[in-house]
Amino acid sequence: MNRVLVIGAGGVSTVAVKKMAMNADVFKDIMLASRTKSKCDKIAADIKNLSVQTAQVDADNVDELLKLFESFQPDIVVNLALPYQDLSVMDACLAYGVSYLDTANYEPLDEAKYAYGWQWAYRERFEKAGLTAILGCGFDPGVTNIFTAYAAKHHFTEIHYLDIVDCNGGDHHKAFATNFNPEINIREITQRGKYFDNGQWIETNPLSVHRPLFYPNIGYRESYLMYHEELESLVKNFPTIKRARFWMTFGHEYLTHLRVMQNIGMTSIRPVLYNGVEIVPIQFLKAVLPDPGTLGVDYTGETSIGCRIWGLYDDQVRSYYIYNNCSHQEAYRETGAQAVSYTTGVPAMIGAKLFLQGIWQKPGVVNLEEFDPDPFMDELNIQGLPWQEVHNIDLDYRV
Ligand code: NDP
Repeated sequence: MNRVLVIGAGGVSTVAVKKMAMNADVFKDIMLASRTKSKCDKIAADIKNLSVQTAQVDADNVDELLKLFESFQPDIVVNLALPYQDLSVMDACLAYGVSYLDTANYEPLDEAKYAYGWQWAYRERFEKAGLTAILGCGFDPGVTNIFTAYAAKHHFTEIHYLDIVDCNGGDHHKAFATNFNPEINIREITQRGKYFDNGQWIETNPLSVHRPLFYPNIGYRESYLMYHEELESLVKNFPTIKRARFWMTFGHEYLTHLRVMQNIGMTSIRPVLYNGVEIVPIQFLKAVLPDPGTLGVDYTGETSIGCRIWGLYDDQVRSYYIYNNCSHQEAYRETGAQAVSYTTGVPAMIGAKLFLQGIWQKPGVVNLEEFDPDPFMDELNIQGLPWQEVHNIDLDYRV
């Protein structure tokens, strides 16, 4: 169990593959395949301690994937392409008989909608085949699910309130850029907000609910309530949760640019005819925006992502905050990528590592909080994403 096939050669993949090579005792054979082979070759060329094989593949095409799996014979397929490819890669994994891991839940190309239902529907087929499909193994989703599971295992008998707080306190010195794939990022941010309250999902207008929250080593930042996919699995797997929300920070400049682009139709996912050719405005926008993979060189500051939890330990009311801060410059020095790619690529590598070591194997389709969080938490500390915890703090957390 030491052969990994990574699909996709973007920012997240750059980090994951380089970190896999730094764990070469577990990842002995690595293949990197993507739509554009030259991007795979560029990542592979930076790795000196082992030889990373590269290949071209269209991950929307199950037959092409299957041929690639047959030739490389992976023990796990790590899908770091886009959410649109999740189901075709899962289909190919079932057809060949190999386990699967991704960092973002499936989304149809023609509808900006996040729901686990499409992938959870594969549970029985993976179970029957004795294969593990690990869903959402980035930071959020991913580490935030693990932080919640760790809190539930060690610090609470019942979790009642969960706020996931995601701050990018960095500056890339560009007028406007997204930190990961612009199309996926803008689709996520412009959708309606949603949070869980007493058994119901409450919808809000996009980015209409906001308040300043304090982030360690960064300070107060305006934080906006958004829907994020891990809320769906966390309220299902921790049924004592009464309220679960997700908050993300955005700067004034970012929101102004976004509003203008929305108002002029540039974020639309509906095709338009331009000079006789059908183009999708948001895909064209992606082509002219800075490539997130190039932001690292000038990026300063840090990210801070964590979970703020309130609940009971026996009969005692407790509060708890667990988080990681990650420096853009340190991430860039180590991997050539900024902290948003780093905080996603490192957990993807850790999930695959625990699978290959036989520590995280559970036939079926599994969200991270369904695994034992402890080995993952140990790896975070070793692999560059150390975490901090604070107990019994004021609800409006200050250092
Ligand atoms: P990028 O756009 O930088 O990279 C995506 C890669 O996938 C590109 O190399 C692209 O190829 C390749 N690709 C796209 N379509 C296909 C296809 N049909 N066949 C083969 N390869 C394809 O994205 P990121 O690296 O920023 O993000 C990767 C994933 O990580 C996304 O799903 C994103 O949603 C997720 N993510 C998760 C986070 C988390 O915390 N859980 C946070 C951030 C991102 P090409 O180069 O030719 O375009």
